[in-house]
Amino acid sequence: MTNPDYLDKLNDYQKEAVVSDAKYLQILAGPGSGKTRALTTRVAWMVKENNVDPSSLVVVTFTNKAAKEMKQRLEQPSLLGQEQSSPLSVSTFHALCAQLLYRHVDLTLLEKNFVIADADRSKQLVKMVVKDLQPSLSLSSQRKKPGKVAPRERKLTDIVSSTTSAYEERLLAANMTDFDGLLLHGRNLLKDHPDVVDHVEHVLVDEFQDTNSLQYELVWLLTHGGDKSLTVVGDPDQSIFGWRYANKGHFEKMKADYENTVVVHLKENYRSTKSILAGAGHVVAKDPKRLSRELFTNNPDGCGISVLKAKSEVHEAELVTKEIGRILEFSNGLVKFKDIAILFRMTALTFNFERALGRANIPFVVVSGSRFLDRLEVKDLLAYLQFFYNPRDVTSFARLINVPKRGLGEVSIKKIQVMATQQKWTLLATLQNIVDAHPATKNMRIMSKSVTELVSLLALHKKVQGMMDEKVQTGAILQTIAHSIGYQDYLETNYEEDHETRWANVEELITFAHRQDSLLVEDESGIEAVGHFLEVATLCGDSKEHDEAEEGRVSLVTMHAAKGLEWTCVFVVGCEEGILPLPWTTDLEEESRVLYVAMTRAKCFLYCTHSAQRRRWNTLEKNLITRYLYDLPTAHCQKHTPAWNANVRKWVAQVLQKPYEENDLLLEDDGSGFLSNDDKIFAEIVDQITVDLQKKLLY
Ligand code: ATP
Ligand code: MG
Repeated sequence: MTNPDYLDKLNDYQKEAVVSDAKYLQILAGPGSGKTRALTTRVAWMVKENNVDPSSLVVVTFTNKAAKEMKQRLEQPSLLGQEQSSPLSVSTFHALCAQLLYRHVDLTLLEKNFVIADADRSKQLVKMVVKDLQPSLSLSSQRKKPGKVAPRERKLTDIVSSTTSAYEERLLAANMTDFDGLLLHGRNLLKDHPDVVDHVEHVLVDEFQDTNSLQYELVWLLTHGGDKSLTVVGDPDQSIFGWRYANKGHFEKMKADYENTVVVHLKENYRSTKSILAGAGHVVAKDPKRLSRELFTNNPDGCGISVLKAKSEVHEAELVTKEIGRILEFSNGLVKFKDIAILFRMTALTFNFERALGRANIPFVVVSGSRFLDRLEVKDLLAYLQFFYNPRDVTSFARLINVPKRGLGEVSIKKIQVMATQQKWTLLATLQNIVDAHPATKNMRIMSKSVTELVSLLALHKKVQGMMDEKVQTGAILQTIAHSIGYQDYLETNYEEDHETRWANVEELITFAHRQDSLLVEDESGIEAVGHFLEVATLCGDSKEHDEAEEGRVSLVTMHAAKGLEWTCVFVVGCEEGILPLPWTTDLEEESRVLYVAMTRAKCFLYCTHSAQRRRWNTLEKNLITRYLYDLPTAHCQKHTPAWNANVRKWVAQVLQKPYEENDLLLEDDGSGFLSNDDKIFAEIVDQITVDLQKKLLY
């Protein structure tokens, strides 16, 4: 048999992995060595050469972006093409569980029309629970009492334990689940009803080093306890989710659980220049627990890593912006905005970059997290849709009830919620009873102006319900909501400066909904379509529109979200003690791997920047360069490249020879970041609980 063309694009080790008939297979290798390429090709091989039914394959990866990219690769005619790849399931663990739960909701504790709370909303719910259980003020007065032994710590532990169960009860009562809950409900479903995945014959997992124990268990259940075949791909050196209880030891565990697992190692890196690979290798070389693995590249030496020191965080952003301008100018169009990424350890660091890039008219997109959903105006409108879809959703209710203002104070809102719980009414029924002056509501003292507002809110609900019954599309429903609540006027009144951008975001949300509608088959609109849209919006938070928007833009991404991706030019910013490693880290090796992952995203140009001082909260910190880079051998830095094609060679030489001015920028203080003591304690409790919840949910 002659080999199909797509195998020619692989080296011998990759081929060995792709065509392996091992039932259990591990593909282990360093960054950029073509693991993901091998995985997608293995899928094509299975379908095309082994006649595996595409719908019996489950491919799992870590981010939505990675899942989308993988699907796109498979859709290429050289691999599977559109038709064969469409029944294939390529998704994240969360999306996979969501699909299964929606399909088999009657077998779970959830009910039809359940909604998924994103991190922000689950935090909001935790806040509600904490507030109910323990007003924050009593906390700080407790602290001031003399003679008590660490009352705050004790208080914290008490609150955490009592809140956790209350939080879970609230979630379930609101017919909601959070991200971790998705995995838990998914695990329970598969455990109690293994037949729901009877169709699965082959499971393939990318980035296996970052699976936590719950995800490992899901894989086990998906393979029917090792009955079906399993291919995993990964790199222990890139394990960066230990803080979320990921376990790189799962490679070893798999070997024990799945007998006769075959391991294939890939050795050649195709992504980065020699300098970048060597520099990044230096960062993790000191890890005593590292399983040393050679990785070589036949790529050119490249121009060395640029380690730049800025005077302040504002200056750092200016430096990066200037370098971007320089690369664009001297590359003669070879490097485009979309080939450039700025990677940072935490989202709070993006702000100065957004400002500097904006000033320089460089288009950018903040890729990390659910940036789109994080926009206030998007959240407002989604809250309406979520609430009308699931009227038990208390967090959405709390959000929408005063947007726009309906004159209801915090006390009244609380009373409404309490009444709903006590009377076992839905929130909507409670509002209706207030409007109808039900005897039970007579002590609530709601102003007549507010009652009028509630009447129109209820009317809007009826209207939307009618639209869902008539199978009107989600885009049109959102439009009706925005219009009926006078949202554009509301933005104009409340956000004088940027109401236009905000309204543009609303329009973008509506366009996104229309796009989702167009993907549906005919009789799928109506309430199911709304549910599907909410699921997509919560889990992906991005859309085709955003992908298109990313095309011509510089990407701002967190190091964690950059996993598996690559760019021609990468700026790793904030390479300082206090940021990388984070001061509260308990795992210095993991922090070095985070930097390693970030650096190995670069193909040609890698910059690592750090700032001598940085304003955070209301203090000015003096920061040293991160311990991982201070002794980076100069051989890896700023070295000329001998062997690139004429254009690139010229460009690199020009870039390196151009003198480099450091602007003396003044520190700017935007006044943000000041929190009162109570706010701080409150935030701390909420954070602590959120972390503890995760722990509890995952073990
Ligand atoms: P990471 O660990 O960062 O996820 P990876 O091992 O999954 O990396 P890929 O993303 O599959 O690596 O490949 C890295 C780059 O190398 C991609 O641009 C890919 O197209 C290219 N590549 C992979 N294999 C080959 C090959 N045999 N020949 C040429 N290019 C290749
Ligand atoms: Mg990969």
